[in-house]
Amino acid sequence: MENYNYAKIDKHQMARLNKQTVMRCIADNGPINRAAIARHVGLSIPSVMQITDELLEHRMIVSRMTTEAKPGKKAELLSVSGEHHRFVGVDIGRTTIRIAVVGLDRRPIYTLKFPTSAVEQPSVFVDRVCKGIHRALDESKIDLDTVVGVCVAMPGLIEEGTGRVLFSPNFGWKNVPLQRWMNERLPYQAIVENANRAQGMWEVCTHPEDMQKNVVCMGLGYGIGGAFLQRGKLFYGASGTSGELGHITVSHQHVPCTCGNYGCLEAMASGAALARQAKAAVDEGRDTLIRELAGERDSIEAKTVFDAAKAGDALALELLDTAAEYIGTALGTVINILDPDVIYLCGGMMRNGDRFLRQIQDATMRRQMTEAGRRVVIRVGSLQEWNVALGATQVVPYYEWKSERMSFLR
Ligand SMILES: [Zn+2]
Repeated sequence: MENYNYAKIDKHQMARLNKQTVMRCIADNGPINRAAIARHVGLSIPSVMQITDELLEHRMIVSRMTTEAKPGKKAELLSVSGEHHRFVGVDIGRTTIRIAVVGLDRRPIYTLKFPTSAVEQPSVFVDRVCKGIHRALDESKIDLDTVVGVCVAMPGLIEEGTGRVLFSPNFGWKNVPLQRWMNERLPYQAIVENANRAQGMWEVCTHPEDMQKNVVCMGLGYGIGGAFLQRGKLFYGASGTSGELGHITVSHQHVPCTCGNYGCLEAMASGAALARQAKAAVDEGRDTLIRELAGERDSIEAKTVFDAAKAGDALALELLDTAAEYIGTALGTVINILDPDVIYLCGGMMRNGDRFLRQIQDATMRRQMTEAGRRVVIRVGSLQEWNVALGATQVVPYYEWKSERMSFLR
């Protein structure tokens, strides 16, 4: 009896895997005909026909006839449907809120952004975000019945499953039931996810070769965060809070961190930390271009430090050397523990040329064990403005796929 059950599970899993493989093949290679799909994925033509008929029925793919193959002989070409399944991604950033609407082909149909402005009461803030989503969907002119769901990505600790914001230092929020509030206000399924996980999802979706790998995504911006993806799946940990790379202790100096601890990577090497260190140095009267470049002392930000370093400023170079050393210290530890295939470095700090990347790579190499992580590649991730919002759009089909409601999605 037990054996029979195992066989049943295996058959079910195999069918699901085949559907995903065919869907993936059409997404990556479409428009494509059934014979070519069969060749690509190694299934028989009748199997491919059965799966593609099902995908057509669910309107996941569309077909069109062509006469290109041979004169007078029409061929049916299949491609992913951009029209019947729409996903909404929201990036709640420190200064800007970005909303993107995409189809199954991941191409933006509509984008909208507005300033985050002063963060009011969380419930008032949620009303404003929902208004923005309604406006984006309205102006996109899509059929609202095609909206599968909305994912809101924001920095901070998000509880897995409930989408409760346990703690978001940037917004000063603790225990905010954001996902429940969104679902009460929107007629679509709403998910709340950590912004670094959304970015990690985008890296994996846009690098199909990474779908079978272990990927670490580190966000280096005003704050520092991270995400792990194992073979295309987000890794959450026992209580759903994994990936807090910004709060690895890298120093015993008594530098306070937003999390309440001291000497965290975020306190020592984030964009906010660099700006703070530069201001302190200016206050001490250090000889530097930083103040001149910023105009006034209070306008100094991480970008000013990078600009000064490009102009050869000794203080700026020293600050970046130290930051890279701390980041390398944390990444060396990550490599020793996880031995990932790829580490993507994302976020505003990485938008300043290759030098900082090379410094981080060198520092990491010094910190990781010689024998550990020999295959790991550290590279800059995608730095486009819309990444987190687009990554959030991909969290929606990911959740649908995990729950098996739409098992063909990946
Ligand atoms: Zn911390």
